[in-house]
Amino acid sequence: MNTFVPRKDYLVFGAPKIEDEEIQEVVDSLQSGWLGTGPKVARFQDMFSEYVGADHAIALNSCTAGLHLSFLVSGLKPGDEVITTPMTFCATVNTIIHAGAVPVLVDCEKDSMLIDPQRIEDAITPRTRAIVPIHLCGRPCDMDAIETIARKHDLIVIEDAAHAIESVYKGRKIGSISTLTCFSFYVTKNIITGEGGMVTTNNPDLADKIKMYGLHGMSRDAWKRFSDDGYKHYQVVFPGFKYNMMDIQAAIGIHQLAKIDKYLQRRNEIWSRYDEAFADLPVGTPLPARPENVHARHLYTLMIDEARCGLNRDAFLQRMHELKIGTGVHYLAVHLHPYYRQRFGFQASDFPNAAWISERTASLPLSPKMTDEDVEDVIRTVRHVLHA
Ligand SMILES: *Cc1c(COP(=O)(O)O)cnc(C)c1O
Repeated sequence: MNTFVPRKDYLVFGAPKIEDEEIQEVVDSLQSGWLGTGPKVARFQDMFSEYVGADHAIALNSCTAGLHLSFLVSGLKPGDEVITTPMTFCATVNTIIHAGAVPVLVDCEKDSMLIDPQRIEDAITPRTRAIVPIHLCGRPCDMDAIETIARKHDLIVIEDAAHAIESVYKGRKIGSISTLTCFSFYVTKNIITGEGGMVTTNNPDLADKIKMYGLHGMSRDAWKRFSDDGYKHYQVVFPGFKYNMMDIQAAIGIHQLAKIDKYLQRRNEIWSRYDEAFADLPVGTPLPARPENVHARHLYTLMIDEARCGLNRDAFLQRMHELKIGTGVHYLAVHLHPYYRQRFGFQASDFPNAAWISERTASLPLSPKMTDEDVEDVIRTVRHVLHA
């Protein structure tokens, strides 16, 4: 008889790997008394702009803040339309709304789960101002097609690269391609600062504006107020926000960024192991990465189809949870949530691919913190739940 023994301790989904150097650096910040925006934020920004090959990197307290400010500094006016896809986190769409613009959703492709360039082109109106691609799970969007559309219709491209810190599109690093790119260091992301985000750009004026809007709208010199050059008066030139990153956060980020390639390599190993172990199961596994791109391996998703698997996605998640494996759902599509349904009158069938994925997708643990034993626990538990 085949007796299945669940693992003993719960495997948390999206657990960050935090090592001694991060801990020591945070302690150093605490001991120095400099907790807020200071030299470590400056160092993290320099490291990050060098890593992605962008002229400017502005550290903020979240990717959501980065998206919000990116839309504001792009000069969107009320009623302007911004095209994105429902297969994303709600923050992408919420920030478009906060900037006073109208989110126009277009469906994703069913296999890649990425925004469909043809549908972008079909949705363009005289009010369209911007396109927001999401590199879902770490897979780069078709940026050649998106850039061609943007150039043809004079649109700005703002990338949601929350999953795509390491991603490269045809030799071009994500973060160096479009006018503005937003990254997340939320605790489940590929590198973390607890809460935190970064905007990259090659445009010095936009970089200055993001810094200023993110710190109360105080003029550029006010930013330097946090130095030891002596007291400086500040001048408010815009009713800004409080979105700056703290040195305590950057203290973690500096050491996380130094280990980014090592962590990606580990997630690549786990990914290959999953691909191999699930090949014979009646589940959908992620589309292979394109050889010309670097996939950031942020989320490993299974498609659980009730007709093929004998149980639906939610039952699968529940069984995994009972057997001590944490999982996630990325995502329940934006257009299915009550607020957007009511405000924009969306029906599930408006974006059939995103709705199809929403019902079936399940993300498995994929953290560099996982041991080989953890990986094997996930595999044998998935196989057990699917009666394989
Ligand atoms: C995590 C995430 C965000 C928001 O990032 P925060 O840093 O938590 O604000 C935005 N978009 C996508 C696709 C995300 O996964």
